[in-house]
Amino acid sequence: MLRNTLLWASTNPLLAEKLPRYRFVKKATKRFMPGEELGDALVEAGALGQLGIATTTTLLGENLRSLDEADGVVSHYRGALKEIEARGLDTEISVKPTQLGLDFGLEEARSRLTQLASSTSTLVWVDMEGSGYVDRTLDLFRGVKRDHPNVGLCLQSYLFRTADDLESLLPLDPAIRLVKGAYNESEGVAFPKKADVDRNFVKLTQTLLRARLNGGEGRPVLGTHDPKVIGETNRIAYELGLAKDRYEFAMLFGIQRAEQERLARTGHTVRVLVSYGAAWFPWYMRRLAERPANLWFVAKQLVG
Ligand SMILES: Cc1cc2nc3c(=O)[nH]c(=O)nc-3n(C[C@H](O)[C@H](O)[C@H](O)COP(=O)(O)OP(=O)(O)OC[C@H]3O[C@@H](n4cnc5c(N)ncnc54)[C@H](O)[C@@H]3O)c2cc1C
Repeated sequence: MLRNTLLWASTNPLLAEKLPRYRFVKKATKRFMPGEELGDALVEAGALGQLGIATTTTLLGENLRSLDEADGVVSHYRGALKEIEARGLDTEISVKPTQLGLDFGLEEARSRLTQLASSTSTLVWVDMEGSGYVDRTLDLFRGVKRDHPNVGLCLQSYLFRTADDLESLLPLDPAIRLVKGAYNESEGVAFPKKADVDRNFVKLTQTLLRARLNGGEGRPVLGTHDPKVIGETNRIAYELGLAKDRYEFAMLFGIQRAEQERLARTGHTVRVLVSYGAAWFPWYMRRLAERPANLWFVAKQLVG
């Protein structure tokens, strides 16, 4: 119930406009993002790098009002990629298809993703948004991947369709970041029970790691903080005889930091997604929905 309310709030434009003006709400974002500026994210990327943890950065924002805004996103990321290179960071970028103009047409998003991918050798990740975007996001990814191997795609284990989508993508030898999924989806398209989402995550992980074993260059990235799923992933890899450096874990800034450091110390590749930007409200609501206990953190800012 609380989860659904928070996910509803994440899509409400009025709340997105009003709530971030309150200082205690803004202060509470510190739990999940080091700051609103690219520089804040890159300073954190440098600090994580010192601990042997790689990073991905993402400029928060989703559905845009005009294609000029999408052009702004592309030029922002091109500048960010130059800055990342200048600072010598092991930092990739992750972009939402709607930030590239997907609501205005597939071709609009494809040309902008192509501009980004062709401007760098760094991997450009494509986020997965709500289920209504999956077909177009797969088309976008396939279209650009053909000529630009440095694009990767996020898939969500809560969707019934993902097993088939993954099978259809494997011949492309893709970099896939598997996550459970963060949007409010109906029982018609997504597993309603968390246990089924978790089980499907492990099943899809098995498929990804097997594909890696069979010689592919594509990167399997398991985007989860779930200790059980992390343990299962390591067990599957061990049973397959897949070395630790042939798959990766990805987590969000501010969540399970001790586990991030433990994995890195024990020879695993860990990549932390560090978000920044002023348009953080919907994204922040989704983080609260994942763990409503986080609301205590927000409440503490009211009195602290
Ligand atoms: C690198 C990365 C990229 C992502 N990209 C996308 C994307 O493109 N599209 C998309 O739909 N989703 C994306 N997500 C979000 C993802 O779908 C999940 O909502 C999120 O990762 C929580 O799921 P979990 O696997 O950690 O497991 P859960 O079962 O939700 O959580 C397991 C444990 O992790 C901890 N935890 C998890 N979330 C939180 C939180 N918010 N606050 C505090 N503790 C928490 C808790 O200890 C919890 O018990 C991404 C996640 C990561 C890590």
